[in-house]
Amino acid sequence: KVRTRIAPSPTGFLHLGTARTALYSWAFARHHGGEFVLRIEDTDVARSTQDSVDQILAAMHWLGLDYDDGPIYQLQRLDRYREVVDGMLAAGTAYRCYTTPDELNAMKAAQEARGEKRRYDGTWRPEPGKVLPPVPTGVTPVIRFKNPLDGDVQWDDLVKGSINISNREIDDLIIVRADGIPTYNFAVVVDDWDMQISHVFRGDEHVNNTPWQINIFRALGAPLPQFGHLPIILGDDGLKLSKRRGAVSVTAYADNGYLPEAMLNYLSRLGWSHGDDELFTAEQMVAWFDGSHLSKSPAQWDPAKLDWVNAQYIKQADDGRLAAWLVERLGQEGLDVSTERLVPMVRLYKDRCATQLQLAEWVRLHFVRPEISDADRAQHLTDAVRPAVQALAQRLDALQDWDAPSISAVFKACLAEFGLKMPQLAIPVRVLACGRSQTPSVDAVLALFDKKVLVERLQAY
Ligand code: GLU
Repeated sequence: KVRTRIAPSPTGFLHLGTARTALYSWAFARHHGGEFVLRIEDTDVARSTQDSVDQILAAMHWLGLDYDDGPIYQLQRLDRYREVVDGMLAAGTAYRCYTTPDELNAMKAAQEARGEKRRYDGTWRPEPGKVLPPVPTGVTPVIRFKNPLDGDVQWDDLVKGSINISNREIDDLIIVRADGIPTYNFAVVVDDWDMQISHVFRGDEHVNNTPWQINIFRALGAPLPQFGHLPIILGDDGLKLSKRRGAVSVTAYADNGYLPEAMLNYLSRLGWSHGDDELFTAEQMVAWFDGSHLSKSPAQWDPAKLDWVNAQYIKQADDGRLAAWLVERLGQEGLDVSTERLVPMVRLYKDRCATQLQLAEWVRLHFVRPEISDADRAQHLTDAVRPAVQALAQRLDALQDWDAPSISAVFKACLAEFGLKMPQLAIPVRVLACGRSQTPSVDAVLALFDKKVLVERLQAY
């Protein structure tokens, strides 16, 4: 049975890279009618926070990545890890090591000085016929895995193909620290075993951990999952996508008005493709995502492309849904507006917006007087047009039917009377009403204003 998992460490927000891994793991499980598990790897006690857990859960929910099992917290499984370690100590596949951190540092510095690879030298590793040093008093030991000395670790990576690492390259890994907390490479194996994970997708940065993990699986007599290591995501400067290079948390994109389905669509293409298809639903992705067509080369995060994808989804999105988001957003700014009031605005503006935040900017100007730039003022609000705008304001004020056709009729009457062409009046009106010289059709925009608000703005020439 296919079972996949995502195993974030709650030491921060849900990173875009982790979100992509989660998406692939989720889609792969759904494609095969399997199960997807969420595990919280919180053994880094000093850096893990409840706030991160909450953020990760919220981001998973926002993306619509539902899981069948979890969240499972590693800290709640300490007894189980202890049990497995005891078994390994008894079986001789793990041993206590009394080398102190200071001694370890000195050992590695000396190796480096001799031009050797830095590694644990195996002082406490038991071997037949070997006499171990006397156990020092006052030192709490760590527990190390007794890694095979010879042979190779080989696996067929779902992304990278066949990988072969010699056991001579790897030393005896610490699996339980002196404080009794298991390390990542050990806990992850016990968890993947107990949770019957069949396929492990994760970031490239873990590929060096996999040989240790495979050796531990074997030492435990546990079945091996298949591994797929996804290439890193690069920022548009060609360096690893990181906080310094813009938003990297899923939450930031939610806050900035991206739609979750656009985010999923965009993330799916960072390292996987289905022909030339650019836009597709999560259901389609599930139908197509069978673990093939995964890219070996790093993906490039492209904000402009993401905006394009998001714009396509905004165009198609239900107006009421977009309006509801805006009500909430503008509400946070202290603006009390209703969905009904916003729906016609959404309809008018959404086609020109890449994000809901841009949509909010359009909508906001109907309620909050926009700044008029000095440049617009100098260029568009000349003395010559003032009388026409004032006449327009007066007639709009007197208008009974407040709709686009009636407004258009008044507008045309003013044009004729003052001998102006459409843009000569429309642009100053746009600048006064909206603080922008370019808007959708001016009568449609004006009709969405509260009449009194609009007339006041036109009068403040
Ligand atoms: N906690 C690890 C991480 O966030 C999980 C790695 C794995 O999937 O094995 O990178």
